[in-house]
Amino acid sequence: MNAIEANIAAVRRRVRAAASACGRGDDEVALLAVAKAQPAAALQAAWKAGLRRFGENYVQEAAPHIAACPEAEWHFIGRLQSNKTRVVAERFAWLHTLDRASIAERLSAQRPPGLPPLAVCIQVNIDDEPSKGGVAPAEVADLAARVAALPRLRLRGLMAMPRPAADPRAAFAAVRELRDGLNRGGLALDTLSMGMSADLEAAIAEGATIVRIGTDIFGMLRR
Ligand SMILES: *Cc1c(COP(=O)(O)O)cnc(C)c1O
Repeated sequence: MNAIEANIAAVRRRVRAAASACGRGDDEVALLAVAKAQPAAALQAAWKAGLRRFGENYVQEAAPHIAACPEAEWHFIGRLQSNKTRVVAERFAWLHTLDRASIAERLSAQRPPGLPPLAVCIQVNIDDEPSKGGVAPAEVADLAARVAALPRLRLRGLMAMPRPAADPRAAFAAVRELRDGLNRGGLALDTLSMGMSADLEAAIAEGATIVRIGTDIFGMLRR
């Protein structure tokens, strides 16, 4: 086994243990391999080890990364500027970091007719941190209603990156409650994108359906 294969096996064990500890099936939690700053060979090793979903942070890395694993399901998880939306609309299956109606409208207009609607999560700035992207919890419902009305997007759920905390579960629980509130209001959101290398157990305990893992699959970042 190479190092990446062994790392993936270890992450899968953690996901399985965390899911079974709260009575969930591990098939309810998708593992997204976060590709940022990784060479093509590392991504191909993860693909060979069975991973099929990859997360990309940077528009400028998207083309070489997608070329390395063209059959993977690609998720954009970085900050998206409005002049860079076309790459996401044309090359990605998912966007996790939607935080503005104007970007949603551009993506819907740019999504090619031959592709299924772009799956999107609204990023929530759950701890109200000025340095982080995402919308304030109080603004999520308004943005969700606007996104749900766009023909070429499919609103799937919420994404969050809480600040490291002694009890990470509280912030994850707040994201889940926001999602549940939107669903009571008539939406049908099935996705919670939350949990990274350090806190995937807490996120799964609070309902995460996609965990985004970089370090514990690929090792330390190269930059
Ligand atoms: C880097 C990154 C991750 C992965 O974080 P690790 O701690 O390396 O697992 C997940 N989500 C986003 C948005 C990231 O930028």
